[in-house]
Amino acid sequence: TPAVRLTALTKDYTTRTTGTVRALDAAELTIQQGEFFTLLGPSGSGKTTLLRLIAGFERPTAGRIDLAGRDVTALPPSRRDVHTVFQDYALFPHMTVEQNVAYALTVRGVRKAERLARAREALHTVQLDDHARHRPAQLSGGQRQRVALARALIDRPALLLLDEPLAALDRRLRHELQRELARLQRATGVTFLLVTHDQEEALTLSDRLAVLDHGRLVQTGPPRDLYDRP
Ligand code: ADP
Ligand code: ADP
Repeated sequence: TPAVRLTALTKDYTTRTTGTVRALDAAELTIQQGEFFTLLGPSGSGKTTLLRLIAGFERPTAGRIDLAGRDVTALPPSRRDVHTVFQDYALFPHMTVEQNVAYALTVRGVRKAERLARAREALHTVQLDDHARHRPAQLSGGQRQRVALARALIDRPALLLLDEPLAALDRRLRHELQRELARLQRATGVTFLLVTHDQEEALTLSDRLAVLDHGRLVQTGPPRDLYDRP
């Protein structure tokens, strides 16, 4: 069973000022389990919309979403076994790094000793062992994004959605975190669906990628089939 199957997925937004905009137009896409898959496209091409539909933050205008063989089109985000990492980290400022990472477990009522043990393990996988008691404000942008990754992966979701997670970082940190993402994906075996407007990033990281243009998926395949690389 594929991790993700999108069938004729369409999303229209209607606002008073813009009228109706078709942000996603009959998208067809299959992502295999354990793949590192990237959606590449310029700003406004519909990348975030596609992620938000998969996560369940938005409902499609038409079409269907299957995750791990299950039709989730009508299910709320909490029942989809999906986590999302956003560009802006979205960490809780008043909580320590460790508490941020353990948050999902707290909500599910996992006992404290196990929560802490698993938070420490997750922080170890992103090489932040020494920062468990820090608060987000005391960390660099790259470190904050590592915390966001640890938090998203602590539950071992079937699918991790990454919405331009490195866009706010400077060039050096971005390259460092790219290596980290590739390593985390291999280490966990979680299916990664990354959204980016950075072609180099897409080519470096993906097993396969799809190109999105004005809400249409125009090309899908492994990097070598989509571009002639030097
Ligand atoms: P991307 O993530 O590739 O930048 P988006 O999915 O954010 O693209 O946007 C795709 C299109 O849908 C754009 O034309 C955008 O203006 C429009 N859009 C996105 N979200 C909304 C919204 N909440 N209301 C109205 N239009 C929206
Ligand atoms: P972009 O600038 O990448 O196109 P947007 O800022 O339009 O993205 O999309 C981010 C959206 O995700 C915002 O509307 C924000 O409110 C929403 N968002 C952020 N965190 C969460 C969350 N945890 N749950 C639901 N929606 C969220």
